[in-house]
Amino acid sequence: MDQKNVLFTIFGGTGDLARRKLYPSLFRLYQKGDLGEDFAVIGTARRPWSNETYHEVIKNSIASFQPSNKEAEEFASHFYYQSHNVKDTQHYDALKKLSDELDEKYSIQGNRIFYLAMSPNFFGTIVSHLKSQGLLNTNGYHRVIIEKPFGNDYQSAADLNDEINQVFTEEEIYRIDHYLGKEMIQNISAIRFANLIFESIWNNRYIDNIQISLAEDVGVEERGGYYDKSGALKDMVQNHILQMLSLLAMEPPVAFSEKEIRTEKIKALESIRMFSEEEVRKNFVRGQYVAGEIGDDQFRGYREEENVDENSLTETFVAGKFLIDNFRWSGVPFYVRTGKRLTEKGTRINVVFKQVPVNVFKDSVTGPCDQKSLAPNILTIYIQPTEGFSLTLNGKEIGQGFQTDPIKLEHRNSSDIIENTPEAYEKLLLDALNGDGTNFTHWDEVAQSWKIVDRIRETWDKDQQTPPGYRAGTMGPDEAYQLLEKEGRHWVWEP
Ligand code: NAD
Repeated sequence: MDQKNVLFTIFGGTGDLARRKLYPSLFRLYQKGDLGEDFAVIGTARRPWSNETYHEVIKNSIASFQPSNKEAEEFASHFYYQSHNVKDTQHYDALKKLSDELDEKYSIQGNRIFYLAMSPNFFGTIVSHLKSQGLLNTNGYHRVIIEKPFGNDYQSAADLNDEINQVFTEEEIYRIDHYLGKEMIQNISAIRFANLIFESIWNNRYIDNIQISLAEDVGVEERGGYYDKSGALKDMVQNHILQMLSLLAMEPPVAFSEKEIRTEKIKALESIRMFSEEEVRKNFVRGQYVAGEIGDDQFRGYREEENVDENSLTETFVAGKFLIDNFRWSGVPFYVRTGKRLTEKGTRINVVFKQVPVNVFKDSVTGPCDQKSLAPNILTIYIQPTEGFSLTLNGKEIGQGFQTDPIKLEHRNSSDIIENTPEAYEKLLLDALNGDGTNFTHWDEVAQSWKIVDRIRETWDKDQQTPPGYRAGTMGPDEAYQLLEKEGRHWVWEP
């Protein structure tokens, strides 16, 4: 059976995600021949669009690739629009009829990928109707791709998972965390497991601390209503940050396969210490942006944003320390921070190594040396917007005496390469097409991440305190700096 012969059904086909990410990604796969010619896409949403209108939308969303008219027409001809209210059972009958027709037309042999690109409130309703209305009575494979957020705490995630499991098996469920499709995230494993010099010192004997920063310069934009109920902890830490942390902390898998990597990631997440309320207060800080400027641009504060409660207690920034209780990581803090309206957009990881045991240059005989301690070696992994890594080493400063000077060995992918590397969504769609779930999140990972995050959230909800303010255009409130300073450390990335 050819996996490429497939019918995609995109719920939320008129939405922002579909237009900005899914259609362009499908086009790139089509151009490269990864989709073949025997595929069809049904876009569904409430609007009463015709196929012609839909084709215009598809062509607009791929215009930046500058395809020829013929190529754009040919690609768009695979797309079909079906107006559909996800709550209306009869609409699924119409969807089934169209699916069966397209199956025959493109010799699809029953293969189905359902993409749920709409509000998570509807995920359960959609999957149960897919089953009850017979859309899964076909011989091929059935896969469902689910957007974030997967629940808004452990209990709601577990309920949703139970609902989906009534219809799809865990192997058929592809939970998207688009960070896992990013080139440099996948590269974390290459850096760790393809280089003897790192894996042999990747532990608490040599690493002092690890820092993960995920900074956004944008505010909440038009997502105020959603964001005000969520906040930075649920929006970023539960998924992207804990995923990055698990890839950094996991034990080497016995093979680079979906099953083996997953097993190790889950073990890493399960080793993260569950903090008591007191420990949460000590180790996690929040922030909320107030009016400020980035460059020449003035920005209003979070509470003045559209659809945000004027007394909102929602955090737009979080910084904290995780501890991992296992032999490898005991005693090594993993500091994380993320927020909106920060100085600049960027995601990077800094692995800070320990000091050499003795600074032999302290009492240099060749000349004065006022350095009490040396700069630490730091491995930086740049995830976005630039991609690459750097390693800071100490060399001798040119001239009299013996001063050391940190030197940065740096590799950054050029903007040409970055432009041509597949978008995260493109990689993930191809993975789903090939039945490879490695870069999607397994239920056990989601469950454990929620349990960790719920503990923090519950403490904050109990305290009902206004998060400390930070000016738009800064890297968060003073409390985020104090978090490290009280332990004799500092954030390496200071844009
Ligand atoms: P959107 O609001 O732009 O689109 C929602 C879609 O759902 C629209 O096509 C709308 O017509 C359809 N819809 C709503 N109610 C419906 C109903 N009752 N019946 C049928 N169709 C209905 O949302 P979006 O930004 O595209 O996001 C979709 C999902 O993707 C969400 O889960 C979101 O959290 C997730 N997501 C989006 C982005 C992004 O960049 N936009 C990024 C990450 C995750």
